[in-house]
Amino acid sequence: MAHPVAVIGAGYAGLAAAVELCVAGHEAHLYEASKTLGGRARASESHDTVVDNGQHILIGAYRETLRLMRAVGADPDVLLKRTPLRFEFPGEFLMVAPKLPAPLHTAFALIGAKGIDWREKWAAIRLMLGLQISGFRIEPDLTVSDWLTQHKTPSRQRRLLWEPLCIAALNTPADQASAQVLANVLRDSLAGSREASDMLLPQVDLSALFPEPAAAFIAAHGGRIQRGKRIGPLIREGNAWMIDGTAYSQVVIAVAPYHLAGLVPELAPSVANFDWEPIVTTYLAYPPEVALPQPMVGIAEGHAQWLFDRGALCGQHGLIAAVISARGRHLDLPAEELELAIHGELLRIVPNLPLPERTWTITEKRATFACVPNLQRPPAQTELPGLWLAGDYVAGDYPATIEGAVRSGVNAARLVQQTASRQA
Ligand SMILES: Cc1cc2nc3c(=O)[nH]c(=O)nc-3n(C[C@H](O)[C@H](O)[C@H](O)COP(=O)(O)OP(=O)(O)OC[C@H]3O[C@@H](n4cnc5c(N)ncnc54)[C@H](O)[C@@H]3O)c2cc1C
Repeated sequence: MAHPVAVIGAGYAGLAAAVELCVAGHEAHLYEASKTLGGRARASESHDTVVDNGQHILIGAYRETLRLMRAVGADPDVLLKRTPLRFEFPGEFLMVAPKLPAPLHTAFALIGAKGIDWREKWAAIRLMLGLQISGFRIEPDLTVSDWLTQHKTPSRQRRLLWEPLCIAALNTPADQASAQVLANVLRDSLAGSREASDMLLPQVDLSALFPEPAAAFIAAHGGRIQRGKRIGPLIREGNAWMIDGTAYSQVVIAVAPYHLAGLVPELAPSVANFDWEPIVTTYLAYPPEVALPQPMVGIAEGHAQWLFDRGALCGQHGLIAAVISARGRHLDLPAEELELAIHGELLRIVPNLPLPERTWTITEKRATFACVPNLQRPPAQTELPGLWLAGDYVAGDYPATIEGAVRSGVNAARLVQQTASRQA
C-alpha cells in the first residue's frame, strides 16, 4: 500500500481522482465541505422533493464518466435513460439521429430535420464536412458566431440548431463562446460514433448517479471520506502538506476555481482570468397526470431553453424542470415572475395545463466558467511540490462539464501515481 493521498473536494472531479487512486492501490482520503456529495452536480431537497441543484444531461461521448460509473457499480444502463439524439422545439424544429452507423446518423439527422429547408440542410452538412476535413481545428480566437458568419450559416439554422447547441454544451452565448471548444464537443458527439451522440438523461438524482456509489467504493477499498469538512489554507511542514492533522506528500485539489484562493492563495492567479456563467433551474410541480410529449423538449422563444419531464425520467410525475443556461434577461426577474412566465411557455406545449401546485427556482450563479476563445486554463501540475489540480476548469479539450471534471480527476490521479512510483 502506497502513502495515503489527500483529495480536497468531492465533486465529480475529486471523486473520480479518489476512485482512480484506489484502483491503483493508494489509500485516498477525501475531504468535502458539504454534507452532500457531487459539488455542482448534486441532489438538493426542496418542498419535500429530492431534485438536483440543476437538471443535467450527459451524452454517450462521456466515456470516462461511464467507465468510472461501471467501475464503482453504478450501472449506466439502469441509471441513465439513453435515447438517440433528439433536438426538438415543438412546432419549429425537429432533428432526430436515426439508428445508423456513423457518420450516416448525423447526415440523415440533418437531411431528415423538420423546420429548415434544403438550402439550410445542405449548409449544415457542409459545415460538418468542413470541420471533419480540417481535423476539427478552428482558428483559436474565433467565437461560435464568428465561425458561423464565416461559413454564411443561414439565420434560422443558427437560431434553431447551432446557438442552442452552443449554449447547451458550453453554457456560453454563441457571440462569446469558443468555436474551437464547440468543435471538440462536435468531434466527439455528432461526428463520433452513433452511440456517442446519444443523450443520457439521469433517472436518479445526481448524487446517487455516481458520487454515492463512488464513496462506497472508496470506503470499501480502504479510503475514507469526511463530509462537512471545509479545509482551510494548506500549510507546508517539512516535505508534507498538513490537512486536519495528517501529513500528505501528495494532494489533489479538486475544488471549484473560485475556491482555490482559500486553500492555496499562490494558485489563485492561475484562474484570475476566468469569468462565470449562471444556470437557472425552475421546478414546476403539476398534478401527476401532466407530462411533456418527450422527456426533453426545447423552447425556441422564451425564458426557458429546455424542459425536462421528471415523471418520465425519475418517476416524479407531474414535475417539470425548466433550464435556462448562461446570462440573460431572466436574471432580472423575481423568481415568482419567472416561474409564471415559464408556466406560460409550457402552455404552448401542453394545452389545458392547470396552474402548478408549487414552483421553486435554483440559481447557480457560478455554474461554469465562461468558455471564451483562447482561455488559458491551468495545467494539472502546479509549481508547488505534491499539489495537483483537478476540476472541470483544468486544461483540457472540454467545456465545464461532468466529463471534463471526471477526465481531469482521472488525469490528476495518474500523475500522482507516476510521481509516487518514481519516488518509490
Ligand atoms: C446548474 C448546473 C447545470 C449543469 N448542467 C450540466 C450538464 O447538463 N451536463 C454537464 O456535463 N455538466 C453540467 N454542468 C457542469 C457540471 O456540473 C460541472 O462541470 C461539474 O460538476 C464540476 O465538477 P468539479 O468536481 O470540477 O467541481 P465541483 O462540482 O464544484 O466540486 C468541488 C467540490 O469541492 C468542495 N470544496 C470547495 N472548497 C472546499 C474546501 N475548502 N474543503 C473541502 N471541500 C471543498 C465543494 O463543496 C464541491 O463539492 C452544470 C452545472 C450546473 C451548476
